[in-house]
Amino acid sequence: MTDNPFFESWTTPFGMPPFDRIRPEHFPPAFDRGMKEQIAEIAAITGSPASPSFSNTIEALERSGRLLERVSRVFFNLDSSNTNEELEAVARDFAPKLAQHRMRIALDADLFARIADLHARRASLGLAVDQLRLLERYHLRFVRSGALLRPEQKERMASISERLASLHTLFGQNVLHDERDWRLVLDEKDLHGLPGFARSAAAQAAKELGIEGRYAVTLARSAVEPFLTFSSRRDLRRVLWEAWTKRGAHEGASDNAPLIREIMALRAEQARLLGYESFADYRLDDTMAKTTTAVEGLLLQVWEPAKEKARGERTKLEEVARAEGLNEPIEPWDWRYYAEKVRQAEYDLDEAEVKPYFVLDNMVQAAFDTAHRLFGVSFTERADLPVYHPDVRVWEVRDNAGEHVGIFLHDNFARSGKRSGAWMSRYRDQEALDGAVAPIVVNNNNFAKGAPTLLSFDDARTLFHEFGHGLHGLLSRVRYRSQAGTAVRQDFVEFPSQIFEHWMAAPETLRSYARHYQTGEPIPEALLQRLLAARTFNQGFATVEYAGSALFDLELHRESEPEALDIARFERELLHRIGMPREIGLRHRPAHFQHLFAGGGYAAGYYAYLWAEVLDADGFAAFAEAGDVFDPALAARLKDIYSAGDTRDPMALYRAFRGREPTIAALLEQRGLTAGQ
Ligand SMILES: [Zn+2]
Repeated sequence: MTDNPFFESWTTPFGMPPFDRIRPEHFPPAFDRGMKEQIAEIAAITGSPASPSFSNTIEALERSGRLLERVSRVFFNLDSSNTNEELEAVARDFAPKLAQHRMRIALDADLFARIADLHARRASLGLAVDQLRLLERYHLRFVRSGALLRPEQKERMASISERLASLHTLFGQNVLHDERDWRLVLDEKDLHGLPGFARSAAAQAAKELGIEGRYAVTLARSAVEPFLTFSSRRDLRRVLWEAWTKRGAHEGASDNAPLIREIMALRAEQARLLGYESFADYRLDDTMAKTTTAVEGLLLQVWEPAKEKARGERTKLEEVARAEGLNEPIEPWDWRYYAEKVRQAEYDLDEAEVKPYFVLDNMVQAAFDTAHRLFGVSFTERADLPVYHPDVRVWEVRDNAGEHVGIFLHDNFARSGKRSGAWMSRYRDQEALDGAVAPIVVNNNNFAKGAPTLLSFDDARTLFHEFGHGLHGLLSRVRYRSQAGTAVRQDFVEFPSQIFEHWMAAPETLRSYARHYQTGEPIPEALLQRLLAARTFNQGFATVEYAGSALFDLELHRESEPEALDIARFERELLHRIGMPREIGLRHRPAHFQHLFAGGGYAAGYYAYLWAEVLDADGFAAFAEAGDVFDPALAARLKDIYSAGDTRDPMALYRAFRGREPTIAALLEQRGLTAGQ
């Protein structure tokens, strides 16, 4: 193939991927050549007659695999945001090959010998702080991949990794297929209770599915939650709830249960090979939390107060339900519906009254302006750059001196071919090893498209959350790409995203940007005050649905012999043991818990959101104490965290920002879990 864009250097502005020219058939040869090139580069490192130096080994590794990195980034981003059958087939084919390639490098004995030699002499190499940390991380990464094992154990590690990569890929594809294949098609008469925005989103969804004139609710969270909140049709709420919670659990070709069993068995085996009792022990050893006991301790600190708060919430829901004539117990598909009624009654707050003030474009502008005030960066739209879907918008980011900082892609709408949830990713990482390389960052959301698109308060929070990750990538100022932006410990990575959410809910922000989509009027002060007063409302429910999933993740990965587990039974028994309220569903049930099984990133790590929340609540309290949410001195110190990437220990970074270690008090208060709330 002569016209494969991956085999050319890109002349697009800012080195953007030439999306308009990239086709699915370009990926396989580019992957193949990328792997081959990197293997040759590694051979050059290990074959060098010169004795190991930081430059000829670690920096040479940083320089290796450039083509593979470029094609992988484009591929996996497109496969997540805008996939199709051709890309899915490439993913299935290459997931195990890429895993094998990575393991081949990670288990290369000659390469490890050079790294180990440097590591042993690290104190005398005259390294800068970032270099020393980079060397230590390389050494640890190799050890944790099995570099110290016997040859036959290494072989087993490699084949497990390869198999896991296939299983993760299949798991995600199964969820996507269930989401794509299912829809609740409705007529006018079925919409009772739905406010205007939910009706117009359902009409839009139907139109996209080619059933114009009717209404459709898909399994995207942004479509499901409004329906469960507003539809007075209990029968339809139940149908939708059951489909939503059964994603990935339909018997047949897309059933995820057998995949989970195999994934768990393989993870446990890898952990045992590396000398750990369980996968959780292995995984947590390289986090801030360090141990399963520390994670469990944190989760249990919120679990009992959250259940207590949820009990109180349920009592109120039951009162409303009985007044409305429901004499049966509250079911999971009822909670959001009656909670909304209680919220309306107690806080005089109606989601349908709030939402017209949360126009997507205005909230995006709010996020940009917040970044400008805190960190001195500006966003200018570039409609001239290639995109992979017409819904994607592109922005150039510059600093106060007018210097180019990076490119930001915003992909906000739900569609088939996009996986569910919201996430940040990169097409290119920042680095400065051989001259400045600016980052290309993307945020994906799954908002229901409307005219205009209106967000819930939670959607707006998600928007800011992902944008916080985006800034972590954009503000990165490191030398080595392995340390860029979000390449931090997994239980620290949610700190920059979660602390940024606080600025969305700041009254200063809402007064300026929460404007009615028709009149342009700012949100009335009384409504704003009621909205803020209601922030701890239903937090018992929210904490329980999250912490239940986190406890499930922790306990499952703590099993030392999960091969014998029946996952459905394990889920049932665990929920019984921890006293999960029956009318609250898990935020993610096992068969679609993509954090855990569509990749290994959050396995035994779903607690990370809460861990980081200790930091973000405590950290934002510093701004509150200063009496100015844009306090320049604090903002400058916070920016240092966003810029540092993985060049320093996370707790040291936090202390430098806050002047002390965090305490949990602010988190409990923010969730309304302190006594008397
Ligand atoms: Zn996040």
